[in-house]
Amino acid sequence: MEIKIIKAGPDQLKAKPRDMSQLGFGDIFADHMFTLNYEAGKGWFNPTIKPYGDICLNPAAMGIHYGQEIFEGLKAHQGKDGGIYLFRPKDNFKRFNRSAGRMCMPEVDADFVLKCMKQLILLDREWIPKNQGASLYIRPTMIATEPHLGVRPSNAYLFFIIIGPVGAYYKEGLNPVKIYVEDFFVRTSKGGTGEAKTAGNYGASLLAAEKAKEKGFTQVLWLDAEEKKYIEEVGTMNMFFVIDNEVVTPPLKGSVLSGITRDSVIQTVKDWGIKVSERSLAINDIIEAAKNGRLTEAFGTGTAAVISPVGEITYKNEDHIIAGGTMGKLSHKLYDEIIAIQYGEKTDSHGWVERIA
Ligand SMILES: *Cc1c(COP(=O)(O)O)cnc(C)c1O
Repeated sequence: MEIKIIKAGPDQLKAKPRDMSQLGFGDIFADHMFTLNYEAGKGWFNPTIKPYGDICLNPAAMGIHYGQEIFEGLKAHQGKDGGIYLFRPKDNFKRFNRSAGRMCMPEVDADFVLKCMKQLILLDREWIPKNQGASLYIRPTMIATEPHLGVRPSNAYLFFIIIGPVGAYYKEGLNPVKIYVEDFFVRTSKGGTGEAKTAGNYGASLLAAEKAKEKGFTQVLWLDAEEKKYIEEVGTMNMFFVIDNEVVTPPLKGSVLSGITRDSVIQTVKDWGIKVSERSLAINDIIEAAKNGRLTEAFGTGTAAVISPVGEITYKNEDHIIAGGTMGKLSHKLYDEIIAIQYGEKTDSHGWVERIA
């Protein structure tokens, strides 16, 4: 398929943020976007890079009514050497296609959309921040577009990619966050859609997150839906705990999202010869370990923040300080290591980074 390119005219180009070191997350978008259409019986067609702008959806578009929507999140980094690097992009599209399968949506040709994505990034390369910590966030998305009311999979879809410069995800930066262990609401359950990056999971999480925010917490830590006993993950991050010098994270059993940062952390920690386990963690054991000093660090992992240290965890109205409320040693070392690989500054022994320019 030939990619059609409609470049933004001089009057369509947007002003870039004046200070790239003061960027927030998710509010600013570059000059162009990529779109690709699908129809049953015809397959994918009409790949186009065009000026960033509104998309036109029929009000009966099935994605709006029945939740067939999936997305991905990854970043492009500009290194000090001027190189532009992607981090494990193939893994994002593999996961995208797994999400598509779960939501009865068509798979994309991963190699092709990756090629389109790279072309989009290079066209808007001026939008990639050059300062460390900042990057270009990339959001591949698919939504059902067939105008039809009635619950069944749609016969038409729109795939698109939007990109925009972002700073660190959390206002706190690398400052430890306070998390609230949610023991009433649940995010998802076994057999549900927790493993898919699909819009409904996030819609379902908002009320608990808002309630936690009102109480001064940054994020909600979800427990398993069946027993409300085992740790699952936080908002958009997987969770890790360091207990008795062992790094532990909950296993992927269908309700936890298979994070690419999670996998990178597991592999890096293994490389360093530190013991790492994927096993179920009861919240009671975490609290016990926090009380008697065996829990030395806790952190979340995700593309947006990379590593987000947890300084305080609150369960059943009791607050527990972790690592003295600071960023733990291992959390810091992992952050430095992964960031250095992402910016092309450190040898990448796993073949994770791809230099595209
Ligand atoms: C995206 C996401 C993550 C993190 O995945 P990464 O691939 O590391 O960015 C974790 N949990 C949820 C619920 C997510 O949506």
